[in-house]
Amino acid sequence: MAIKKILIEPNKILRQVSQPVDKVNKEIQSLMDDMLETMYSANGIGLAAIQIGIPKNLIVIDLLTKEKKKHPMYFINPKIIKQSSKMSKYDEGCLSLPSLFAEIQRPSECDVEYLNYEGKKKILKATGLLATCIQHEIDHLKGILFIDYLSKLKRDIILKKLSKQKLDQKRLVI
Ligand code: ZN
Repeated sequence: MAIKKILIEPNKILRQVSQPVDKVNKEIQSLMDDMLETMYSANGIGLAAIQIGIPKNLIVIDLLTKEKKKHPMYFINPKIIKQSSKMSKYDEGCLSLPSLFAEIQRPSECDVEYLNYEGKKKILKATGLLATCIQHEIDHLKGILFIDYLSKLKRDIILKKLSKQKLDQKRLVI
């Protein structure tokens, strides 16, 4: 396993539409192992392959419950097949938008069809944080970031913060 570099917005690659995986093989599995290790090392709860620059429909999630035990979840070619009309709000963050958070409204429940780590077809009924997280990650596969749901004004404020952060980081490196 290896820790990969996570792409940070603004980056054109993050806006690419990812492609379906044809076959679940060793290569895909080791890629997902790397994604998981990268996610854990960055203290994230979800990561899409495009965030490490690979435009494939792959997601890893681990909500890291209170016991801090690892419960990794792998989603290959995930597709939302049902969404609740009931919405819920969550203060979302993203590994590609470090230190930025914004309240985003999404359907509070969704059914996801996907292939698991072994390539078996599965359907999961997601609720709560898992539903939010899956929808956020599937958005990445379409080149969508959570800030896209904000008004232009809010988005501009948030992006200004991000570029300022980058400048500060540069200063520290010197
Ligand atoms: Zn994200």
